[in-house]
Amino acid sequence: MQFTKDILDMPTRPFANAVEARKKQGLEILSLGRGEPDFVMPAYIREAMIDAARQCDTGYGASQGLPMLRAYIADSLNSTYGTAYDASRVIIAPGVKSVLHLALCSLLDAGDSVVFLTPHFGNYPALVKMAEPTAKAVTVSLRQDYTLDLPALEKAVSQPRVKCLLINMPHNPTGAVLTQEDMDAVARLCSEHGVYLISDEVYEKLVYPGTIHRGFAAYPALLGRLLVLGGYSKSHAMAGLRIGYGAGPADLIATMNRLAQHLYTGTCTFAQAGACAAYTHDALHLPPYVEQLARRAERFHACAQSLRHMHGVPPHAGFFYFADISATRMDSNAYCIKLLEETGIAATPGIAFGDSWDRHVRFSLAAPDDVLAQAMERLARFDRAFS
Ligand code: PLP
Repeated sequence: MQFTKDILDMPTRPFANAVEARKKQGLEILSLGRGEPDFVMPAYIREAMIDAARQCDTGYGASQGLPMLRAYIADSLNSTYGTAYDASRVIIAPGVKSVLHLALCSLLDAGDSVVFLTPHFGNYPALVKMAEPTAKAVTVSLRQDYTLDLPALEKAVSQPRVKCLLINMPHNPTGAVLTQEDMDAVARLCSEHGVYLISDEVYEKLVYPGTIHRGFAAYPALLGRLLVLGGYSKSHAMAGLRIGYGAGPADLIATMNRLAQHLYTGTCTFAQAGACAAYTHDALHLPPYVEQLARRAERFHACAQSLRHMHGVPPHAGFFYFADISATRMDSNAYCIKLLEETGIAATPGIAFGDSWDRHVRFSLAAPDDVLAQAMERLARFDRAFS
């Protein structure tokens, strides 16, 4: 049997194999690979899910998602941005990834291009290919300080057949947040070139104190071509419950909903009942957690800057520290395997985020403070022993 070659395995396979081998040997792993919060899901979400399950709310749900949850999402966007979304312009799917899959399947025709920034969320290239095998992924690298290279973006978006621009901000893996000027410029580019903007804002609630993040829904001129993606995996520790949403133009949402009916029928009903509780309770867990992430990022950055073979840029949001390891002259899989074997630390090779980031490594800050402190000590020793 010949399987498709187009959807490639993750480029971090060599490192993943090394982790598996270490696990089999029962050796210690200090995991800094996690992409979800290190707190427990709030109790009010758990109770709302249990209530729904007790009421045997377990039949097929609406393919577009629970009307009440969609209305909460629309209201929340409207109160933040002064928009006029309603439940009909929101769709719920099993995770942000699935919403993106529906959107790309709905938008792309043969020969279209999708522009996205690198380093990119690992699944973006495969999601484009799965949606439309002939579609071209046009990538634009962030600068070495993780700021937007606007001229390069403008050049990419001006190419023929660009159907949409996919932007993830706050950004995984760099923790970058766009400046107001860059946001204005991106909004202008999309309007001038008539491209859709898919704005992946799954980290919007994890912006560190002192940084301001506004979503693209703040631009009224964009709304006819804007799809905002959001979810609860990162803000409410609900990653395993698989809930994400998209809010956008009525015709796009209707097309996505037709696909959803064929693909998975509907999203887990009691998990959606849990997500509703996120709108009827204050997220009191978030401000202290985000402050803690900011402190961890500060400490990790100080550690990275003190090493001879690593440097980085302080993140402004999210769980991650993206470090430049080019001074080691190793590629990211080789570096991560050596780091794992010599220190037990498991981090994510930069190649996962695009070919041009193979001299970088992502460290997750979503680990307890004592684990991080231990990891930093071991990194310092690893750095000193490095030839
Ligand atoms: N988008 C980005 C940028 C992410 O980093 C992630 C998860 O790591 C996702 C989407 C997927 O989110 P979900 O768990 O809701 O599918």
